Order: sequence, then structure tokens, then C-alpha cells
Amino acid sequence: MALNMSEAEDKIAEAAKKFALKNARDYGTAQASIVINKIFAEIPDAKKLGFKALKAIVDRVVGEVNSLSKEEIEAEAGKYVFPEKEQREGLPDLPWADAGTSANTRFAPNPSGYLTIGHSKIAILCDEYSKKYPGKFFVRFEDTDPKTKEPKIEAYKAIVDDLEWLGCKIAGIFKQSDRLEIYYKYAKQLLESGKAYVCTCTREEMQRNRKEGISCACRSASAEENLSRWEKMQSVFKEGEAVVRMKTDMQHPNPSVRDWLMLRIIDKSHPLTGNKYRIWPLYNFSVVIDDHDMGINLVIRGKEHEMNSTKQKYLYDALGWEQPHTLDIGILKPSKDISHKSDIKKAIQEGRLTGWDDPRAPTVAGFRKRGILPGAIREYVISSGIGKNDSYLDIKKLEAINRKLRADAGVDAK
Ligand SMILES: [Zn+2]
Repeated sequence: MALNMSEAEDKIAEAAKKFALKNARDYGTAQASIVINKIFAEIPDAKKLGFKALKAIVDRVVGEVNSLSKEEIEAEAGKYVFPEKEQREGLPDLPWADAGTSANTRFAPNPSGYLTIGHSKIAILCDEYSKKYPGKFFVRFEDTDPKTKEPKIEAYKAIVDDLEWLGCKIAGIFKQSDRLEIYYKYAKQLLESGKAYVCTCTREEMQRNRKEGISCACRSASAEENLSRWEKMQSVFKEGEAVVRMKTDMQHPNPSVRDWLMLRIIDKSHPLTGNKYRIWPLYNFSVVIDDHDMGINLVIRGKEHEMNSTKQKYLYDALGWEQPHTLDIGILKPSKDISHKSDIKKAIQEGRLTGWDDPRAPTVAGFRKRGILPGAIREYVISSGIGKNDSYLDIKKLEAINRKLRADAGVDAK
């Protein structure tokens, strides 16, 4: 239910007091930044108030709490119940979180194939942190590229089955292809406010412009002109003739950050929505909208995504939203020959594997057929930690963990 402003402020002041007392009791003095993080993590309405107003409330409350004596803080804090964080072995604590913080995470697979052992690492870490700091773990299918990453209908279900088999506690499942109207709403808002523009330059022109840091004429078109071009993108323009770009900084040292692509036209039927939509969002655009909408405050991703934070910052700022915390981690590769989903696809096409669930395939479904227990995969992934170095699957180590778990569980070892 929506709160009115003064109700929201009261609610936040009350929460700020609780968190500040706990912080002061545990560490001597309360810190505004820690209190703010906790409020963002726990009270979805806080974002509506705006960061400035929120900070003013928190600063005032933290000042009041820090003026109390140690005895007064103990007595005041004693009036609240603070949930203790679940004790989970293995994963390091998050510096911004402690008891009482919720970590809301999401695993966002592309349903163009099945889960590999590499994907399972990200999913398990997300699930594990959402259990360590009790919050929600969502699955979000990134299925907005019907052309080059054509979604496979059977993959949606197979991925959820694999995640459940791995012991992930799924709080909700979303498909980006269901959310086009939401993306369109924000795209229009950004075009109206002059934070984005429809660019009708050719791909070659734009490539050169971005490389050389030159702004094209589309960039300074009026809001009316942009909205009219946006309407034309729905039917008049052909694929490749118009795209929506985020206005960033055409002088940014990294050319890929310069006015990155938000949405484009794809004239290909989508297996779930058919020909209903032709404007499709690109990753950095949809991910920001979705993470905000779903209240995600912890993003765990392969470290190749680091530069995306820089790109996304422009969009977060344009919409007045806070960026979630991120953990950029090393990638777990199945083996030197097969390191990517496309390698597995190729092996299936060439008949070297019978399918995604071939026991020789480095997929979750394959490991399952091979007799690997889900607990063994979890233990392996968690013990490999959250470092930034890429690694290859150490199959001997995984099998050793598996033998031990099977013996403990009384399952006959293979
Ligand atoms: Zn242009």
C-alpha cells in the first residue's frame, strides 16, 4: 500500500532510530551511511522519499542517538527485537550488511540453453546470500533478444527445475518478455526528460561518432521530436533504422560508455509474445529497471560485467535511483575445451553429446544424471568463494565431495 509522505517519513524515522541504536550499541557510535543502507534494504517505500530527504531524517536521528549515554543506548535498544542473521558456513560477510539486513538477489539466465556449472555458481551464491541475510531470491529470464539468443520454450522450465534441484529457494519468477510495457514507460519518460534520444544515424556513422566522441544531430532533438520518432519505431522505421540511446558523456574515456544503446527494433517473432512487440530493450537498460522494480540490493555477476556499472550509473542517476551493491566474481568454467554454453550447443549439434542432460555434459542436468548430489555442487561452489579469478572446474574435487556426501547419506557410491 502506498504511504503518504508524512507517514513514510515517520516510518523511516522509526526504522532509522532502531538501526542507529543497534549500530551504536554494537560499535559505540551510529553511522548514517550504515543506517541508510539498512533502510534502503528493508523499506521499499524509502526510495520514493528521495535520497536527500531520507539523509536529512537519518542525520537527525543518528545525531540524537549519538548524544545518548552508553546506558541510555542499551536501554533504548533493548526495546527492539533484532533478528539474528542465519549462521551459514563458508561465505564471507558483506561489509554493508549485518544482522537485520535483507539481501535481495536475482539470478538472470538467458533461456537459450540449459544451466552450466558456471551458471550454477552465480545462482547458488545469490541463493546463499539471500539465506544468510534473509531476503528474497528471484529468477528473471532475460529473453529480449529473439534474434541472436532465441529463447527455447523448454529451457524456461528446465532452468527452474535445475535451480530447485540445487536447493535454491525461489521467491518469484519473472520473464523480461512479459515486461515490455514497463520498459516502454521508462523509455518514454527518459525521452521526454531529454535523458535519452532516438538516433537514426547509420550503424557506421554512429560507430565513428562514438569512437571520435562526436555528438550527432539526433542528440539535440526536442522532446516532441524524440517522442514522435519513438512512435515511428513502433511501426514505420525498419530494423536498424532507429535506436534509443542513453545520453551519457560523448567524451567518456571508454568509447563503449558513450551514449550506449538502450532499445532497438528486432523484426523477428518471439516464441512467447509472437509479433506483439518489435522494440526490444538491451541488457543495461532492462537490468536497471528490473533490479529497481524488484527491490534487488545485491547483484552477483561475472566480473566481465564490471564496466556495466559505469554505464548503468547514468541511468540510475537519470531516474534518481540508488545503485545496488555488487559482487563481481570470477567465472567457473567447465573445462578448457568446453567453457561456454555455445560450445555445449555445438557438441550436441555435432553428436558428441546426446543432449543438455548427457552425463558427460558440464551442465547441471548432466551432473544430475551422473549421480552428483546437489549438495556436492553447493559445497564445491561455496568453498571456491567469491574471488575475482576465473577458474576451471576441478572435477576430482567435486567427485571427492560427492563421494563423502553420498557415504554420509548412505547412498551407494558409484
Ligand atoms: Zn544520430
